[in-house]
Amino acid sequence: MDTTRLLLLFSLILFGAYTEHQGEKTMRKIHANETKQKQYKKEMKEEDAFFIRRAMELSHVAVADGHGHPFGSVVVKDGKIIGEGWNKTAVLHDPSAHAEVEAIRDASKNIASNSLAGCTIYASAQPCPMCLSLIYLTGIEKVYYCIPGKTIEAMDARLSVEHIYRELAKPAVERSIPEIPILPEEVEKNVGLYKVHYP
Ligand SMILES: [Zn+2]
Repeated sequence: MDTTRLLLLFSLILFGAYTEHQGEKTMRKIHANETKQKQYKKEMKEEDAFFIRRAMELSHVAVADGHGHPFGSVVVKDGKIIGEGWNKTAVLHDPSAHAEVEAIRDASKNIASNSLAGCTIYASAQPCPMCLSLIYLTGIEKVYYCIPGKTIEAMDARLSVEHIYRELAKPAVERSIPEIPILPEEVEKNVGLYKVHYP
């Protein structure tokens, strides 16, 4: 066997081993996710079903009142609802008025705090990337949802947010919307403001 053939054979063996390794990694990930989901289901309490049903009720309110798409949400702390919301994008002409955002605004006002640490959010459907970001920002600790995003997408492709999840998973420089840092000379003059600690 000449050197070229030997190299080719060696490369094929290496590629095969790599593919097998990647396959095993994927299987392990799927198994870990399934185990996690089973554990979550086991931990689900009667009150969780009650709160998710309330979120579903609110999704019907959104449609019945012509406020927006059928999405509802509640924020819960210490076993009590502290905020409720449903989609109001149509009535408010506000693209950010998603059910979870509305529920979070309501909860934050009611407890007069920007932090929702120790809270759980229940949403009629899987949160979109905007709502999920807000959930992280507020310190909410758990999300329960009823309808998966993929099921909504199958009903109405216009409600799909998969492309946004894909964009966010990319490094910033590879995203379709450019983020361009400008006026570097202004940074030093203004950066001091960020040292102020707000309540
Ligand atoms: Zn949303």
